[in-house]
This record gives sequence, structure tokens and C-alpha cells, in this order.
Amino acid sequence: MEKLFRHSLPVGIAGIVVNIFLFVTNLYYELVVPVIENSSLEGAVFHFLDALIFYTPVIFMVLFAAYIVAGQLYMKKFHVRKEVTETEKLMVKNAAVQEALNEKAEFLKYEYYTNCPNCGSVRVENTSVCSFCGASLVIRKRDEESN
Ligand SMILES: [Zn+2]
Repeated sequence: MEKLFRHSLPVGIAGIVVNIFLFVTNLYYELVVPVIENSSLEGAVFHFLDALIFYTPVIFMVLFAAYIVAGQLYMKKFHVRKEVTETEKLMVKNAAVQEALNEKAEFLKYEYYTNCPNCGSVRVENTSVCSFCGASLVIRKRDEESN
């Protein structure tokens, strides 16, 4: 759908211009009408086809105009939808970053032993419990001001 409507404005304008040209010059009518004049069509059918051919460029102008309008409306909707999707993705990413920051801030509220008071293992960086015995490595909560 997006491919169909992406270039609706230039294509639609070109289509309208071509059909204005065909209508004003009568070129299309003069090319096509001899074909039905030489056929055996008569009466109402002939007059209907004659009028149809005469107004075909006008019909196409209307169709191209409708194509432009539909294309503009669709692309507008498409862009809005795309923006909404991108905003939602950013919000999810932002929430994940915020959560990581909160965890880090919580982590930084405490002072930690460099060696486990229970088993003596060296503390792995950014952990609050001993990775060998699971004992808490928290010494105490830092003062809020000293952060
Ligand atoms: Zn330990």
C-alpha cells in the first residue's frame, strides 16, 4: 500500500496534465472515434460510446485527483503510525535504561567489603553478595551527602 501511494502526488499531477492535454486537443477522441465509426455500432450504443470516449480524459482527471487525495491521506496515516511505533520503541528502551540506572543508584548507596567476611573470596566487581558463598558483602549504607 505504501509503495502504491508513495508517489501519488507527482504521478497524479502528471496524469491530470496528460488528460487535460488529451481533452483540450481532442487528440484521443479523434484517434479512437474513427475505430467505432467504422464498426457496425449504431444508435444508443454508438452515442453512449461516443460520449464515453469524449469524456474519458475527464473521467481520468477525476480518478487521478482521487488517487492524489487517497495517497495523501494514506501517507499521512502511514507516517503517523510509523512515528507512534518509533515512539513506543523509544519508550521501551528508555524504561530499560531507567531501570538499569535505578539498580545502579541503589547499588551505589552501599559500601562493600573487598573480601567476603564469610569465606574470604575476593568480591567480584558490581556484586553485592559473595559469588562463592552468597553472603552479603554490604558493610553499611553510605551517607546521602557523601555520595
Ligand atoms: Zn563468601
